[in-house]
Amino acid sequence: MTSLADFDRLPLGLLPTPLHPLPHLSAELGVEVWVKRDDLTGLGLGGNKVRKLEFLLAAAQAADADIILTTGGPQSNHAMLTAAACRRLGLDCELVLKQRGVLDGGNVLLDELIGVPITWVDTDGYDDVYAVMDARVAELQSAGRRPYLIPVGGSVPLGSLGYVACVAEIAEQAAAAGVDFDHIVCATGSGGTQAGLTVGAAIHLPTTPVTGYDVGVGGDPAPVIAELINGTAELLGHDLRIAPTDVRVHDALGPGYSKPSESGVAGMQLMARTEGLILDPVYSGKAFGGLVDGIRAGQYAPGSRVLFVHTGGAGGLFAVGTQVA
Ligand SMILES: *Cc1c(COP(=O)(O)O)cnc(C)c1O
Repeated sequence: MTSLADFDRLPLGLLPTPLHPLPHLSAELGVEVWVKRDDLTGLGLGGNKVRKLEFLLAAAQAADADIILTTGGPQSNHAMLTAAACRRLGLDCELVLKQRGVLDGGNVLLDELIGVPITWVDTDGYDDVYAVMDARVAELQSAGRRPYLIPVGGSVPLGSLGYVACVAEIAEQAAAAGVDFDHIVCATGSGGTQAGLTVGAAIHLPTTPVTGYDVGVGGDPAPVIAELINGTAELLGHDLRIAPTDVRVHDALGPGYSKPSESGVAGMQLMARTEGLILDPVYSGKAFGGLVDGIRAGQYAPGSRVLFVHTGGAGGLFAVGTQVA
């Protein structure tokens, strides 16, 4: 089997991130909830994209790229963290963002602080965005530049390796803390995080299922996640293959992508009021709200040990807010 160590990786994150129990929350819910603090990955305002970028930007450097292009919505944590990582590496970066949702403040403010050019595409779909990006890539190439394109969320198998590595960290920390997790839970957007966690669990914690709460980056998530799981396993020479119907993913979208939901805001309040931990309204709050709803509906056995992966999202909080439409 190929191992993670066979892949180029840049030390962009401050790793390992902490893993700790949440005692007041657990008492409230009757389930033992722990958190993996990937909101503290240490670049920009932290978040899950840093782990993916460790592998993606290593590949970009190996390909001798001198400018990185990526995309997302205006409040994309991925776009902001890609820009921040490029600054750390001395690479140029351009963002092509979908002109939908909250266009000011939050991550757009951070993108402007970091000083990366933004091209806005007035569209509902990523096909239009990629057409603009492809044209820009061709333009840069004919000007003698060496562009490298990272797709939305960094969700390709190479990026998911970051979350395979995260499970290696979790397994070590869990062993040191003397805890066996019955579940690992995360927010799912473009699917790469859940895919990496699933492959990582198959390797390092084979009895622990991974469950995602979908926040609606696009369409039916299960086929996308299954394809990413299988692609990531294949990259590592691991024989895990899974069908979309076997992907554990629940809906947590609410009124729409990047729109606060009642369940998500209730989850944010519960986490903040029991543990002083801040979630975001677009991803981690909705995922946590979905988990709380699932616990209250009896989907998690009383006393079971659940690890919630806090994927970050602080950059969007003050732009998106907590007002449910
Ligand atoms: C991107 C993102 C996610 C979802 O990760 P995917 O790999 O795209 O599924 C979750 N939380 C936050 C804060 C994010 O920025």
